[in-house]
Amino acid sequence: MLIDTKALVLRAVDYKDSDRILTLFTQDLGKVTVRARGCRRRGSPLAASSQLLTWSEVTLFGYRERYGLNSAEPLELFWGVRQDVEKLALGSYFAEVVERVTGDEQPEPALLSLILNSLYALDKLQKPQPIVKGAFELKLMALIGYEPLISSCAVCGALEPVEPRFDRQEGLLRCGACGRGRGGEGLALTPAILAAMRHVVYGDPKRLFSFRLPSEDWKQFGRVCEGFLTAQLDRGFSTLDFYRSLMGR
Ligand SMILES: [Zn+2]
Repeated sequence: MLIDTKALVLRAVDYKDSDRILTLFTQDLGKVTVRARGCRRRGSPLAASSQLLTWSEVTLFGYRERYGLNSAEPLELFWGVRQDVEKLALGSYFAEVVERVTGDEQPEPALLSLILNSLYALDKLQKPQPIVKGAFELKLMALIGYEPLISSCAVCGALEPVEPRFDRQEGLLRCGACGRGRGGEGLALTPAILAAMRHVVYGDPKRLFSFRLPSEDWKQFGRVCEGFLTAQLDRGFSTLDFYRSLMGR
């Protein structure tokens, strides 16, 4: 059976002499594992589409729950990401997270759009990495069922909490005073960080990165978004460790 779809390479592992086993995030089938025969041979028509983070039009050959890559035409190579070591590390982290949080063969159009838009923002829009990374992390969590409760203080209900703090473990917002004595006091949020979080979680996904955050808030925004993701998923990511080592933290 032949299946035409579009696919992003989330993982590529060399196999035998000239093949690769690809984890593809496809438009129509969701995540599938595919063997790309001969893609590492010189001049293989599958070469470009068998690289990490390439978005392609593909034809898959399916047989007894196994897939092979029959043909592929790259649509977007994200060159600006590929040629920058930090952006490539960040894109690889996005791919590892998406690979971990998706089940096999379940189409996830919103998640697919999120990772494509995030790569595009790094590549073409030249958005600052802390903005793209944090927005990706927070939106991803909301999409997979961990939407944080940030519309009001979880204790007193104030819509604009005083000295707001975000509790990464519980995924909610409290005023500074309301949080005291309730275990973790949480991470302090500036008004701009809270506004950015609300924009990402509740706003139009097409305008995901259209928010302003002063550069002095980037570090704390990163702590909040990355901390929420790693606390909720209860794991680390080797690609995140690598990205952090490049950024010197
Ligand atoms: Zn409160």
